[in-house]
Amino acid sequence: MHELYLAESILNIIQDYAKRDGFKKVNSVMLSYGRFSCMEPKALQFAFEVQAAGTAAEGAVLEFKIMPAVIHCFSCEKDLEIKTHTGICPGCGGGEVMLTAGTEELQILEMDVD
Ligand SMILES: [Zn+2]
Repeated sequence: MHELYLAESILNIIQDYAKRDGFKKVNSVMLSYGRFSCMEPKALQFAFEVQAAGTAAEGAVLEFKIMPAVIHCFSCEKDLEIKTHTGICPGCGGGEVMLTAGTEELQILEMDVD
């Protein structure tokens, strides 16, 4: 499971910060990922809760900021935000489009710690 690995990576980063900055408890973690990055937030939250037990991150709430998916159309030369990737430009109907944003990997934006 993809999310198990992601949860572990987040925890490793948090523990590095905890060592460096000396905080004792993480209240919440703000994460971001692209709309099309195949992430299941519920699965990640669950994997995180299990793995965070006994660490500074135990009980921390995960918050997610989803980055929009954007295509560039080579017909009308526009960049448009899309909800689903059909391979067709929603502006002009052209078929020569390229996904330019939306597949960003999970990353930590900020943490609220004590
Ligand atoms: Zn277009």
